[in-house]
Amino acid sequence: DVAPEGETLETCAGVLQEVFGYDAFRGPQAQIVSHVSEGGDALVLMPTGGGKSLCYQVPAIVRERAGQGLTVVVSPLIALMHDQVGALLEAGVAAAFLNSSLSLEDAQRVEKEMLRGEITLLYAAPERLTTPRFLALLDSLHERGKLSLFAIDEAHCVSQWGHDFRPEYRGLVVLHERFAGVPRVALTATADDLTRADIVERLQLEEARTFISSFDRPNIRYTIVEKKDGTQQLLRFIRDEHSSPQGHDAGIVYCQSRKRVEEVAGMLCEAGFNALPYHAGLDAAKRLNHQDRFLREEGLIMVATIAFGMGIDKPDVRFVAHLDMPKNIEGYYQETGRAGRDGEAANAWMVYGLQDVVNQRRMIDESPAADEFKQVLRGKLDALLTLAEASDCRRVRLLGYFGEASEPCGNCDNCIKPPELHDATEAARKVLSCIYRVQQASGTAFGSGHIMDILRGKQTDKMAQYAHDKLSTFGIGADWSETQWRALLRQLVAREAVHVDAAHFNTLHLAEGARAILKGGAQVWMKQPSEKPSRSRSRGSS
Ligand code: ADP
Ligand code: ZN
Repeated sequence: DVAPEGETLETCAGVLQEVFGYDAFRGPQAQIVSHVSEGGDALVLMPTGGGKSLCYQVPAIVRERAGQGLTVVVSPLIALMHDQVGALLEAGVAAAFLNSSLSLEDAQRVEKEMLRGEITLLYAAPERLTTPRFLALLDSLHERGKLSLFAIDEAHCVSQWGHDFRPEYRGLVVLHERFAGVPRVALTATADDLTRADIVERLQLEEARTFISSFDRPNIRYTIVEKKDGTQQLLRFIRDEHSSPQGHDAGIVYCQSRKRVEEVAGMLCEAGFNALPYHAGLDAAKRLNHQDRFLREEGLIMVATIAFGMGIDKPDVRFVAHLDMPKNIEGYYQETGRAGRDGEAANAWMVYGLQDVVNQRRMIDESPAADEFKQVLRGKLDALLTLAEASDCRRVRLLGYFGEASEPCGNCDNCIKPPELHDATEAARKVLSCIYRVQQASGTAFGSGHIMDILRGKQTDKMAQYAHDKLSTFGIGADWSETQWRALLRQLVAREAVHVDAAHFNTLHLAEGARAILKGGAQVWMKQPSEKPSRSRSRGSS
């Protein structure tokens, strides 16, 4: 039906120009606003900075002008609501929010205005929206045909597979059940296949049209390096790439624990940088103060746990550094995506080491979740490891994870300086045959530690107990350090030549990809040059 859509689009473009002062829609915005203005459900996947807000703000205004009444926007963050409502009011749009920051009096005033039809866009937190009292207010609007649209922002929060699960979001399915005829638009900046399917199921968006934008952020340069002394590496990185005689750039440094956040912030300050800590252990006033300073002052470095960042709309964040590895690619994409929202060059820089892998695996193993759930988490972690291990274009892999095909980008570490690769096929065959022989000989599988010990010819109790020192593979890899073997093993796991059975003590098993390496002509390449035997050297953190 081309004609009405054309008309709707014209109306939308008019609002875009008149209210927001923009000349044209960007990317898929035009299609989305037409579809939603005409009452269709939509699932919008668009990267940070892509312009999601207009996807519901424009339809909200168009529909309100057509007499269809109120749009309710579900948003998880108070700060975000304030910013958005402030900007809308400035543009002359009747907007308001309802959240715990309002006094009872103010909340009641907003409710009255809403019932009188004086509000076009109302922002509310999910827990507020789903109270019986608020639903009753919506009923009364609905009965009068004055409930126009629901917009569910940060929709990945409904999924436990997303990186920011918020149980309150689950209750939002009531919107569909109770107000079946009212269109809904759900929006998110990250969602792999699994999260996407989960959003659709949890919010009953089966009828919704899905709009997927390119997730590429071409101005962000991705760099992932092996962790040696993480904090020293960070200092060098900021000095080399983000400092000038005038000062240093604004950036975010992510760490896994609160303790680490405090340490690193302290270390940066001592080194003369302007840094602040941010984590859930700080009291609310302090968090707000630090966030405010980060937004308003120039050249501040926020050292934070993942508690920091969602909805932070600071355009000139020049770098995002990860001192610890995130849980999965969605988290990595989301966090790095906070860099360079203004479109200018920005860095996403991460150090990672074996210890990160071990920590993340352990956190999954020790969580009280069901096995099936843990399996999914492990799969997601492995995908991130594959990205970290990759010697080809990071962006191709990152976008590939979200289902998007692309060409090598020329703006990531591997594109800029292709790593020198070394033929490790012989070594790979040694590991694989060792795993195979051991299992044959003992009728049971073993973990990576023991396999490394066999290869490196280490005498242990376990060795004697199973007589593995009698195997032909005992000591055949003594010329390599444990670190090198682990790097190789990580790669073999990544290319599915080796399977780590998490359900059975992380034992190693040969997998599909092993055959091609053992029997076929498949080659294995490794990034690091072969180090000298390192048995005498003191061990690093991994
Ligand atoms: P997101 O929520 O997807 O991260 P926003 O909705 O905050 O992104 O939009 C990012 C920025 O891009 C905002 O400053 C917004 O005003 C601007 N923007 C969005 N769409 C357009 C457009 N069609 N023309 C010009 N600027 C736009
Ligand atoms: Zn690249």
